[in-house]
Amino acid sequence: MSQNVRVRFAPSPTGKLHIGGARTAIYNWAFARANGGTFILRIDDTDPTRSTEENTQIILRAMRWLGLDWDEGPEVGGAAGPYAQTERLPLYREAAERLLAEGKAYPCFCTPEELEADRRAAKERKDPFQGYQRRCRNIPADEARARMEAGEPYTIRIKVPEDRGDVVINDAVHGTVTFAAKELDDFVIFRSDGTPTYNFATVVDDAAMGITHVIRGDDHLSNTPRQVMVYEALGAPVPVFAHISMILGTDGKKLSKRHGATSVEEYRDAGYLSDAFVNYLSLLGWSLDGETTIIPRDVLASRFSLDRISKNPATFDPKKLDWMNAEYINAMTNDEFIEKLLLPALVQQGLMDADPAVGVDGAWMDKLAAIVKPRTKLAGDIAGICAPIFATASSLVYDEKSVAKGLAKDGMGTILDAARVALGTLPADEWEAAKIDAALEPLPDALELKKRVVFQAVRVAVCGNLVSPPLGETMELIGRDDCMARIERARTMAL
Ligand code: GLU
Repeated sequence: MSQNVRVRFAPSPTGKLHIGGARTAIYNWAFARANGGTFILRIDDTDPTRSTEENTQIILRAMRWLGLDWDEGPEVGGAAGPYAQTERLPLYREAAERLLAEGKAYPCFCTPEELEADRRAAKERKDPFQGYQRRCRNIPADEARARMEAGEPYTIRIKVPEDRGDVVINDAVHGTVTFAAKELDDFVIFRSDGTPTYNFATVVDDAAMGITHVIRGDDHLSNTPRQVMVYEALGAPVPVFAHISMILGTDGKKLSKRHGATSVEEYRDAGYLSDAFVNYLSLLGWSLDGETTIIPRDVLASRFSLDRISKNPATFDPKKLDWMNAEYINAMTNDEFIEKLLLPALVQQGLMDADPAVGVDGAWMDKLAAIVKPRTKLAGDIAGICAPIFATASSLVYDEKSVAKGLAKDGMGTILDAARVALGTLPADEWEAAKIDAALEPLPDALELKKRVVFQAVRVAVCGNLVSPPLGETMELIGRDDCMARIERARTMAL
């Protein structure tokens, strides 16, 4: 790309960062990185009733967790700052004054009642032009100035040139989009309370910040012709627009909380990995080649392109996100898994000492990681998988359903008796997964029972449930004495 790419993500801090906003941020970031450009974060906080500093902080934290580093913006600064709209109010005022002075905007003194009456009349006479009826457009400049100075309330409207014609946008996603001239009225750029409207503030900022590409949700496509009017009035180049599709839930309806889609931080807290989350979201409307699903961050940051964004709505499928998260966890080395997920989860659950140097047997940990990692979809799964291993014969919690199904049935006491004898022949220094399995192996034949029945009974006795990791490995990690004690305890539950 010959031009020096500058893009921005401009969230309004009226809420937390959600899936849709996060995807917009990812696309802007990736596009900047792929083109050696600049990624700007701007806080669009001009709505004072709904914007909060707390939400701004939540958004910044979420951006950091997503790993979307910004080159200019809050905390890092930059030559085009400040980067919060509330700190830029004088700039909007200045720009509006300039347009007023140049006759490209004008004060409008219409009262809400007059506007309403005009609207109704236009509707009744089926006027092809239903917008603002331009009552104040031709008030002579000196009269208008006098009324403003006398304190009469006014808004400022942009003066759409008489001969402007249709507005044609060449959107990088949607292609050519034409907005009919009759849709364009002299819209308000400054309210009577002295605050700028979104369409004005955004364009003043995008122009001042030298934004070359506006990548945002296609709910903003309908704002674009008005924004083009502002660029033209300001004499600023119109950027490339790329309006990205909506995200739908698996039921085909617009994504919302009903679909379990929550804020980015809730995904973080639920144990999703940032890399997996970013990878999954990047595919909601974009593809590398139409088939690759695992796209590491560095590949996204070098290969992202606007021409592979789809026009069609994307579907957010939590199951696919879980699958992707599990893929990323599985692709970790054991050491990485131990350091990033296993130890923190164990410490958090109070199963291990907070000081990782205390009481960690490297070989034991490695074996634990080997059985826990392939079973972890979310970091939050780890504690549950590990709990039976870290329990003791007296503290182990037996799952009622598992006991009813695998232990509390006629004849199962004999399984545990036989298991105790078989395992009792294994000396402590030979308490290894393969040998444990080998000791249990002959039991089904000897007892004339199905293999599944025998192993289930031992599994419930030792782990308290039916779904634990491979039995031999788990029993090795628990240790001989505790396994024997657990079987002893479980014997009272077996019939
Ligand atoms: N603050 C606007 C929003 O959050 C930004 C829209 C835009 O990118 O122009 O929707």
